[in-house]
Order: sequence, then structure tokens, then C-alpha cells
Amino acid sequence: MGARACRPLGDGTRTAGARPWDLLREAALELLSPTRCACCERPGTLLCADCLAQVDWIDPAQACLRCGAPFGAVTCTECRGAPSALAWCLACASYEEPVPQLVRAYKDGGERRLDAVIAALLARGYVRAWREAGARLAGCAPNALAFVPATGAAYRRRGFDHMEAVARLLAPQAGLPLLDALAKHGRSDQREAGREGRLAQARGAYEVVADVRGRHLLLVDDVITTGATLNAAAAALRAAGAAQVAGLALARVW
Ligand SMILES: [Zn+2]
Ligand SMILES: [Zn+2]
Repeated sequence: MGARACRPLGDGTRTAGARPWDLLREAALELLSPTRCACCERPGTLLCADCLAQVDWIDPAQACLRCGAPFGAVTCTECRGAPSALAWCLACASYEEPVPQLVRAYKDGGERRLDAVIAALLARGYVRAWREAGARLAGCAPNALAFVPATGAAYRRRGFDHMEAVARLLAPQAGLPLLDALAKHGRSDQREAGREGRLAQARGAYEVVADVRGRHLLLVDDVITTGATLNAAAAALRAAGAAQVAGLALARVW
């Protein structure tokens, strides 16, 4: 993964391991609608090298281990004293452009191939965290990967579970087996709720649907805003017997 650090992500290939008919169809699709950067529309790749270079990576050695905020190697004032179900929690990057554009294009813009780009960014952040801040994370070394599932309403609107697709691609890159462990109940989209609403919705909203007893889980999500979502999902996993849960998000709003 490290060797690929400077390559633009997403070569635009629509069908991997394709048969001749698939290749023909891909060529026709490329002609009709060429692959473009999800952020700047430059043709060629799903995330061009220039936009990738704009990503504001968070230093895992200088981030609050409760919420991933880049406030130094301490627990931030927001998290101090607050209970957490997470052994540690990190975010790969700040929720600054190009990340919001990337997430919107994936979740709501119909560019499903961005699952591979987002998985690659998460894998890069995860590997970096262990390489550069391994001593801080040593209290919980995950042995399986879980993801925060979409709400039923979001699933129906989008037609797919955006983090499930990412987690399937991330699991082999992180060297962890995937555990489809959680189901989400609740109708409203968290983006439409305020902080209190989010906290209330997040409480008790998750059902554990796999045997997680004794597992040390890495729980992934796209964006951390308050941390309430990851915490609620982690609390459900802990209540179902998971030994430990660590959190990893693509981005942190702060
Ligand atoms: Zn671009
Ligand atoms: Zn914090």
C-alpha cells in the first residue's frame, strides 16, 4: 500500500477480471460517459492526483484517541470525562475538500465505483496509524472488521449500503476478516438532525446480528461528526460480547 501512496486512486476500470463482452461494454460506457475525477471532473481517474494531494490527512500521533480530532496527542476537551465504548478512534483526514465532494459523489451522486477509492483511503489511514502511532493503539489490536450500516431509509433511497461496499474492499487491505455484525433501525437520516437529535437517534439504534463474542473489532464509518454514531454502534457490539471495539472513519468534522 505504501508504494502506491502517490498514485491517483481509481483507474476507471468498470469491470475487473472481465470477459470480452464486458470489455466491449466497458469501452462503450467509457465512450458515452468517460471516467472523471469525482472532485474536479478531470477525465481519466475517479480521484485525480491533484485532488488526492489536497486531502488534509490527520496525523494519528497527534489526534484525540476518543474522537479522532487533530488536537494533539491528548484527549480533547469535548471527550474528556465523557464515557466511550471505543478502545480508540481515529479519522484518516479532515472533512475538508475534496473529501466531502468524494463522499457526496459516492453516497448520493451514483458513482458506486468510489467504494474502491474510499476503501483505499481508509486502508492508507489504518496502515499509517499503526506505523506512526502503533504504541498509542496497542491496547486494542483488531482481529475482524465491522461497519456502521446504513439506515433502512438511506438504503432504500440509495439502493445500497455504502459502508458495506467499502468494508468488503477494505477488509483484505487491512488484513482483517469482514464481519457483517450490525443492523440499523430508525427512519431519519442523521444528516438532517441536530446534535441532540443525533445523540437520541444513535442511542439503542443498533442490533447485533452476528456472533461477536470475544472479538476485537475495527468498526468503520465514513464521517465522524459528534462521534455518537460510532459510539452507539460500538456500545451495541460491546453489549453483545465484543471484547473491544476500535473506530476508524474516513473523515472528521471539527
Ligand atoms: Zn480531481
Ligand atoms: Zn476528542
